[in-house]
Amino acid sequence: MPVGAPSQLPGDPVRAADLSAATTVVGVIGDPVAHSLSPRLHNAAFAELGIDWVSVGFRVPEGSAPEALVGARALGIRGLSVTMPHKSSVAALVDRRSALAERLGAVNCVSNLDGVLAGDSTDGPGLVAALRRDAGFDPAGTICLVIGAGGAARGVVAALADAGAAEVVVVNRTRTRGEEAAALAGPVGRVGEPEESTRCDLVVNATPAGMAGTAGTAAWALDPALLGPGQLVVDLVYHPAVTPWLGAARDRGARVRNGLGMLVHQAALQVEWWTGHEAPVEAMWRSVSEMTPG
Ligand code: NAP
Repeated sequence: MPVGAPSQLPGDPVRAADLSAATTVVGVIGDPVAHSLSPRLHNAAFAELGIDWVSVGFRVPEGSAPEALVGARALGIRGLSVTMPHKSSVAALVDRRSALAERLGAVNCVSNLDGVLAGDSTDGPGLVAALRRDAGFDPAGTICLVIGAGGAARGVVAALADAGAAEVVVVNRTRTRGEEAAALAGPVGRVGEPEESTRCDLVVNATPAGMAGTAGTAAWALDPALLGPGQLVVDLVYHPAVTPWLGAARDRGARVRNGLGMLVHQAALQVEWWTGHEAPVEAMWRSVSEMTPG
């Protein structure tokens, strides 16, 4: 199924004439969903692999995940990427969960094989893959600090621990939620203070607090003055490509990455799970190149 040249984000230039009754369908469920880049990433991979698959968006309102899964089963939809607000509810609805999905109580990817729905979580492993492949950073043996304790932070905390981090420190506005997130890292996880970031190899912002419109350190979850050379600083936000917070960390001499790598690699892991093919990550990156600075 050939896919044409990149066009306006987030739509994909999949040509209807290339689809047929034999095309394998996957999709993303969420609400809102029209902004999702997942179909674009999946379709770029399918085109590069030369396979007759297509990915589309399905707007599924909150509370309607059960009907969506029944529909996916009935229609033979081969896989679903799952986004807000369905990650927790889908975890409870699938027939099987990976160990990580079980631990997180969240699923961002469903595989439908002959009507049996299996759920996994590729968000955290996607960030680790992005760190290793795109930033040359292996978390093994490192000291990591994660700001936030929501769904994204929890996935990242668990994945960093699974990747062999020596310490995973969680800093969160609401301490009890921070403690719950830190527990996902097992013995290497604990709640800490923002000031500890000065001794960390990796600092990940998993809050929306550094986005455009939140300029000024008072509005930020961690003061960038605590960051500097020798550190890798990641903001999971990717729109704008460089948040004011990430820009401030870069100005302080830290090496910085936005959340696009996590997005690309979590989609790549989904493609690999569904198709059994190694994901063409470079082609997937090219499909969202308009979103990378410079
Ligand atoms: P979430 O479940 O709503 O959690 C948000 C977290 O941020 C909570 O821990 C919250 O603290 C904290 N927070 C919110 N506003 C804050 C503020 N002003 N100051 C300090 N802390 C604040 O959200 P999520 O789904 O985890 O998403 C978090 C961020 O990651 C979002 O910006 C999202 O766009 C991004 N994200 C990126 C990717 C990717 O692929 N790159 C994937 C998923 C999410 P409390 O616990 O105290 O409420």
